[in-house]
Amino acid sequence: MTSRILAIGECMVELSQTDAGLYRRSFAGDTFNAAWYLRRLLHLDAEVSYATCIGEDAVSDEMLRFFETEGILTDAVRRVPDRTVGLYMISLDGGERSFSYWRAQSAARCLADDEAWLDRVLEKRDVVHLSGITLAILAPDARERLCAALSRARSRGTMVSFDTNIRPVLWPDQETLREGIRAGAAVADIVLPSFDEEAAAFGDTSPEDTLARYRELGAGIVAVKQGAGPVLLWSDGGRHEEIPAIPVEDVVDTTAAGDSFAACLLAGLVKGRDPVDAARQAMSIAARVIRHSGALVRTAAVA
Ligand code: ADP
Repeated sequence: MTSRILAIGECMVELSQTDAGLYRRSFAGDTFNAAWYLRRLLHLDAEVSYATCIGEDAVSDEMLRFFETEGILTDAVRRVPDRTVGLYMISLDGGERSFSYWRAQSAARCLADDEAWLDRVLEKRDVVHLSGITLAILAPDARERLCAALSRARSRGTMVSFDTNIRPVLWPDQETLREGIRAGAAVADIVLPSFDEEAAAFGDTSPEDTLARYRELGAGIVAVKQGAGPVLLWSDGGRHEEIPAIPVEDVVDTTAAGDSFAACLLAGLVKGRDPVDAARQAMSIAARVIRHSGALVRTAAVA
């Protein structure tokens, strides 16, 4: 049976420097990247949609066409007048990449403004994936609205996946950040934190601390990532395992390591794999993704 998967969040215009003063235009964003990898990993086994808001201008049209070209369904894309999509620029100084963002007024910030729309787009999905960035870009009332809608979807049988993706600059202060991340995790079946970010935000001294917090908040699967270190995986079937990362000598760009990991883990679960096997597979895909530059790695990602 075809699974219906929805990722929800913000996709942005990406401008990356290719030469002095010349930039290449692409589209990316954490939850969108995960949707893109899910699409490629699941082939015909799933319909993958992306839920977001875009503007009514030419670049929003281009983004929509990009979704379509990449096989991502646009049934959950809403147009917002007088706004446009967010943008970030990757500048190169020697080998160092630096990022500048224009996203404070992006259309995606409106994605949880309409409760009826949210309920409609979340309806009849087998899996919904969101991240801490999805929550961070929303106003407090919109954040509550989205979490409430996710909770209703979950009670109707949707599996909710939450990549905590903690970005302190997107939150007004540390306490709001912690509250927001806890609220997202409390409506999730699967929580995918990164230990370094969790340690900085919550003061965790070990990955076990991170695991314990999300277990207590009700998740059924928690995978604590540690870059080149092992993933600590727990699932309520009782498995609690440390899975070593695949050594990568030639790391080129770690962008989307976590996004491809999330997508591959979810794809494995959708295919009925054991969480440990799904996590192993996810680590192998992520290890391939970081050997290429850019978020969307076409050759490395296909299982
Ligand atoms: P995030 O991008 O969410 O912070 P990580 O950086 O921990 O997540 O990366 C996600 C996964 O990608 C890791 O669990 C690991 O499997 C893989 N990965 C990331 N960096 C490396 C690395 N340097 N070597 C090997 N695997 C890596």
